[in-house]
Formats: sequence, structure tokens, C-alpha cells
Amino acid sequence: MLTVMKFGGTSVGSAEALERAADIIVSAKTNRVVVVSAMSGITNFLIAALEDGAEHAERVFAEFEERHLSVAKQLLEGDRYDAFLKEFEERMDRFREVFSEPANWSDPYFRDCISSQGERFSSLLLAHLIRTKGHKSEALTSEQAGIVAFGQPLNGTCDLERTASGMGMKVKPLVTSGVIPVITGFYGINEEGKPLTFGRGGSDYAAAAIGNALDADMIEIWTDVNGFMSADPRIVPDAVTIEEMNFSEAAELAYFGAKVLHPRTIEPARMKHIGVKIKNSYHPENFGTHIHNLRRKSDSRLKSVAMKSDLSIVTVKSGELAYRIKLIARIVDRIGDADIPVYAISTSLSTIAFLVHNNDVTRILGSMEAIRHEIEGIDVKSDVSLICTVGDDLLDRLGISGDVFGAVKDAGANVEMISEGASDVSLNFVVPTESALEVVRCLHSRFITGGCE
Ligand code: ASP
Ligand code: MG
Repeated sequence: MLTVMKFGGTSVGSAEALERAADIIVSAKTNRVVVVSAMSGITNFLIAALEDGAEHAERVFAEFEERHLSVAKQLLEGDRYDAFLKEFEERMDRFREVFSEPANWSDPYFRDCISSQGERFSSLLLAHLIRTKGHKSEALTSEQAGIVAFGQPLNGTCDLERTASGMGMKVKPLVTSGVIPVITGFYGINEEGKPLTFGRGGSDYAAAAIGNALDADMIEIWTDVNGFMSADPRIVPDAVTIEEMNFSEAAELAYFGAKVLHPRTIEPARMKHIGVKIKNSYHPENFGTHIHNLRRKSDSRLKSVAMKSDLSIVTVKSGELAYRIKLIARIVDRIGDADIPVYAISTSLSTIAFLVHNNDVTRILGSMEAIRHEIEGIDVKSDVSLICTVGDDLLDRLGISGDVFGAVKDAGANVEMISEGASDVSLNFVVPTESALEVVRCLHSRFITGGCE
């Protein structure tokens, strides 16, 4: 039995946090492969260093070193500290070398290389700490572990097949011989051998990809909250932790779930039916959220209600649009070219509406200019919020939409756009931002805490 255990930034962000993480790791009963984020704040620090420029290099190195070494001194002593320092200096030399060479700054993958430095050092700290607890452990960079990535800078995707063969050679033998590998999350190595990150928060995805590549039995995401909640507790104080969800529900919620889990984490796990557990490293005794394949019905009709604000509906109008599929394709293509995230799409016979961030409206209008002669008009409605309700088999439950919209009416809100049917576990719709909080509270009390069926 093999468990991939991923620890996020706050779970490795201080000496105490690292102690807790190491204790959780050594007390696990299965074989394990550990994946880590950078210590909390370090990735932001590195990104700021990239903005500041190479002339601040010495200050950057000094602060970076201080943050890691002060923690190492609290955790490691004597020979153990010396052994750590030796590996630390090697990695630090490499970091200095890359950052200080002006020619590197124009490399398209340079930002990936610098922003992923934190993981190389948190993994080292944790591996050495695990050794002090009487276990064999080794820190591996993604290069050493054989994690292969492809795609654009700062937005890589893991090549699962090649990663599986790389890790089969490099990581599996370690596990078999009783070593606990501690691997850097957040990035893989592209074809040119350069670090390519998986986007911010991408260590969760790295852990899922590693779990997939190693055919793990479980992927544990250790973080600083108890798991997915039925609503944001700042909006709904009596929100509860969701103990079980299936992959589809988790995939929908990950986009809204207050960064509990990187949305791309689900797919590599789902592909091989590997369960994912979200656990709180500050309270390991808590059950957390278990995401798996089972379709056990829950008692409440909805599992979670989430919202996303600062959105706009952009409606493109053209007569008989429904019969002009190629025009629809061109409209969508313009948005694709502008690389704008779209949170929902809804169509009628003569209109197609896109839900986008308020800040992207100008860009979307600009990108439509090229096909302006083909369309009749564009309307924009700003400052709306998307409400996302997630629950078992929503599509198959008779009357659920009517009940949900009945509750929205009782909250005094007008529904501006609806997206239903694309997923059988979620019903998403848009309301004016001024009514969004009330809608979330009303749905939560009626369908989750109220437990009505
Ligand atoms: N350290 C990276 C970030 O802050 C990756 C991660 O934490 O998942 O985005
Ligand atoms: Mg994270």
C-alpha cells in the first residue's frame, strides 16, 4: 500500500509546522512518498524578487537563506545540521548561479526556474528532519525524481506516462528499500530539461500526478483547514466540513473552494480511481474530506454552496445564431485568443452569453472587434456573482431546480443567467452581487443545515 502525502506551505512553514508534518509522516502505516510546497510566503517572495530585478540579488539570497537556516537551526543539531548544510549550500549555489547570470533572465522558463526554488529547500528540511526521527529519507528535486512536464511557461501539465517511467526507475526503488522520498511539488522538467511550473498552488496537482505515476493507493493533501466546507464560513458561520464527495463534485467545488485544493488535482487521481483525502496538519485527528468513486447518497440535498463575485455577463447578439454554428465558433475563438477564463456560457437562439471577470470585459470587447461586422451587438452586465451549488445527482432529482430557484426568490434575488445540465452534480446561476450573500445563506440554511428532503 502506497500513500502520497503532500504538505502545503503552511504545513511546512515553520519549525513547529515541519515537526508536525514529520510526525504525521513517520506515524503513517503505509509506504509513503512525500511531496512538498515551498515554506509559506517563499514563492511570493521569489516572485517579488523577479520583479525587483537582479540588482537586488544579494538581499534576496540573504533573506532566503535566513528564512531556511533559522528553521534548520531549530530542528537539526551537530552532524545532522552539517549534513543538511552541505546539501543546502549545493542547492543555494545553483540558485545563485541561475539568478545572477543576466543571460538567463530572457529565457522564457526563467520565472519557472526561480519561482520553484522554494520547494527545493523545504523538501531538504523535511527529509533531514524525518531522518532525525529514525527513518531513512531523501530529498529529491523534480529533476531527480523524473517528473516530466509540457506546455507553456508558468502553466505546465504533467506528462503522466513519461513521469511514470521516470519515477519507476528513480523513486520506486527507494520506496522498496524503505526510504521516504521527499519530492518537490509545483514543477516538472520539460523536454529541454528546464523547470516548468504547474501554476500557482500547483503542488496539489504535482502530488496527484505523482500518485497517478506511482499507482498510489491514496493521495493525502495536508493543509491548514479541515477540508471542503459546505460554504465559506465567513459568509455562513454554521458551515460544516464535507466528509465525503465524489470526484465530479470535488472537481466542481475545487474551482470555488477557497483554494482548498488546486482544481487540476482531481483528474490524475480520478483516472486511476485513487482516493484523495484533504487533511488538516494542525488537527490530524479530524476526519477531513474524502474524495472517492463511491456514490453513497448524502442526507442533505445540496453538499455545498459557493459563490464567486466581481463577474460580468457579456452577451453577444446575432439573429439566428443557433443556425450559424461557425459564427459561434468564431466568437468563442476570439475569446480563446484573448486567453480569458470563462466561468459559464449560456445560449439562446440569437444570443450567446459569457460570464467573465469584471477586469476582462475590456479585453473581451476588444477581441470581438475583429468580427464586429458579423454580430448585431454586445451587452455587458457587470457586478454579478456566480452561485455554484453542488450535490449528488442534482440533474436526476425531480424538482431540485424549482426548489433552489424558489429559495433564490425568497432571498429576493433575480436570476440573471443559468447554467444547468452540463454537469450532473452542479447547478450554477448568476445573481446581482448585492443579493449574493443572502442567496448563499438562504440556500445553505434551507438545503444543508436544514437537512430538508
Ligand atoms: N509554492 C507554490 C505556490 O505558492 C506551489 C504550491 O504551494 O502549491 O504557488
Ligand atoms: Mg495550496
